[in-house]
Amino acid sequence: MMAYWFYGFVFLLGLCLGSFYNVCILRYLKKESILWPPSHCPSCGHKLKWWENIPLLSFILLRGKCSHCQKKISLLYPLVELISGIIALGLWWQYGWSLAFFLYLILFGLLIVASFIDLLSFLLPDILTLPGAFLALLFSFWLPQPGVKSAFLGAGAGFLLFLVIQKGYKWAKGIDGLGGGDVKLMLMLGALTGIKGLLPMIFVSALLALMGSVFFWLKGKVSKGESAIPYGPFLSLATVLYVFTGDKWWDIYRWLMGLSY
Ligand SMILES: [Zn+2]
Repeated sequence: MMAYWFYGFVFLLGLCLGSFYNVCILRYLKKESILWPPSHCPSCGHKLKWWENIPLLSFILLRGKCSHCQKKISLLYPLVELISGIIALGLWWQYGWSLAFFLYLILFGLLIVASFIDLLSFLLPDILTLPGAFLALLFSFWLPQPGVKSAFLGAGAGFLLFLVIQKGYKWAKGIDGLGGGDVKLMLMLGALTGIKGLLPMIFVSALLALMGSVFFWLKGKVSKGESAIPYGPFLSLATVLYVFTGDKWWDIYRWLMGLSY
């Protein structure tokens, strides 16, 4: 019985962290301080009352509108909170009350904030990717996977691979195909997947990005042939998926190959 209560508590913790991530994302994009001014409506500046500031629940209670100016509140807010809640639950389920739970919570929190900033502004700030890389490498000493050596090799290989692709693309086509932020992000992601998980993760991220492009294209957000979606969120998502399920990817691959015969 106790265990169920903890799942509820962990989900709530994830939602509250998500709420904080929203503040970080919004304030970074608007270049404000994280602690001041207090939470307010981005349209009219209306200061949020305590009951308008509850993760997920307030969005539902307010039916997605500001109580003052009736402007629609972006769906991204509850989405960030929900993603954070689900990740916290997943980590609790996998690692329980352990150091790994907290270390991954910090690293994945950084990835959520970086991904949504990238999604909204096409920028991956160094202030997130570089400390993220440092922490991912440092934490590899305590995390159950992929091991310290594999983490350092993964970070180095991921960084170099993306650097070569970026320079090569620019040399061949004269335009940027990969952002410099993605190259730096690979330090952190390579440390998380390890050297063995690096290529499978990149492969899955490319599949996810392809599906994302089709989705955005169908929604009319980008025109055909234009690669106007950021890659960082897909790399991050693939890395989180790899940490949770990577040990089963080869089984799935073999099963898919078996189907095609
Ligand atoms: Zn408002």
